[in-house]
Amino acid sequence: MSLTGAYDGNNIFAKILRGEAPCVKIFEDDEVLAFMDIFPQSQGHCLVVPKNVEARNLTDFPAERLGPLFQRVQRLTRAVIAALSPDGVIVTQFNGAPAGQTIFHLHVHVIPRYANLPLQAHNQGKPADMEALKSQATRIAAALEP
Ligand code: AMP
Repeated sequence: MSLTGAYDGNNIFAKILRGEAPCVKIFEDDEVLAFMDIFPQSQGHCLVVPKNVEARNLTDFPAERLGPLFQRVQRLTRAVIAALSPDGVIVTQFNGAPAGQTIFHLHVHVIPRYANLPLQAHNQGKPADMEALKSQATRIAAALEP
């Protein structure tokens, strides 16, 4: 069952965290790695992935790390707003395949919303242009508060 069970260290986010797969990085510290979603639901869709933990979803993540994780989610969300000027931002995460989860290492989505642009369906986004992603990541990183 995708909602429970053993953590599988072969998931793509674990590989990215180990440096075995590439990502378009925005920032990294001891707690998290933040990078661009390569199938974005909207321009600037990014992900915050906690490091040094085997957590499939919110339910098996250590409670004492929720504060540090969401401090970083808030910092990234503020930077996305400053860099890309969206009209709104969705901050979300999914638990279990029937809820929409496809990668079973806890992560938080930060999805800018633009009033005049449609939102792509979750996991039905088209592959992003890598140069555009790198440009967005650079702009978001430059807008991060200290
Ligand atoms: P979820 O469905 O909540 O597990 O979200 C997984 C997200 O990861 C989706 O939005 C995918 O577009 C995104 N994704 C899948 N593979 C990669 C990858 N290699 N690098 C960045 N994002 C990815």
